Amino acid sequence: MNFIEKCVSLAMSLASRGFTNKKVETAGKQLRGLSCFGNEDIAPCPHLLKSKNFDSHYCGACGCGDTPFTQLTLNGSVYSKLDYPHLACPLEMPGFSNYVPASPKEVSERSRKSQIEVYDILKLQNISVSNPDPSDVEYQVFDKISKIAQSKNSK
Ligand code: SF4
Repeated sequence: MNFIEKCVSLAMSLASRGFTNKKVETAGKQLRGLSCFGNEDIAPCPHLLKSKNFDSHYCGACGCGDTPFTQLTLNGSVYSKLDYPHLACPLEMPGFSNYVPASPKEVSERSRKSQIEVYDILKLQNISVSNPDPSDVEYQVFDKISKIAQSKNSK
């Protein structure tokens, strides 16, 4: 994903919240949580990185870095990336907007994706997630990112 694509992807994620405090549904956040963090049955994503600046994690594959707006938080009080209704995953994992089912090869190799696709729904529902509201500051960031994406696209 190049710089423009990253900007557009992040802008779409932020825009997806609209201006009415939209959030991903609880089941979707639980599935995203399993894709990123794993649990006692599923290993964590190899791209999940511990933040050096916050008490949380971020995605090392999306290219957006370790910032206040890129933290992946399952159960925090602050609205995070995992709460966005539209959110892309570089690995196209379950729960994300760009999800693509596991290939036959991935299924035969019992990849993380294929394990998550058939994961026990009752255990999935036991994953504890929060449901925080976004702040005005996040909307201001969205405006800035949208302008950057527009200016890059017009060149
Ligand atoms: S690659 Fe996808 S599943 Fe892995 S940490 Fe990033 S967003 Fe989460």
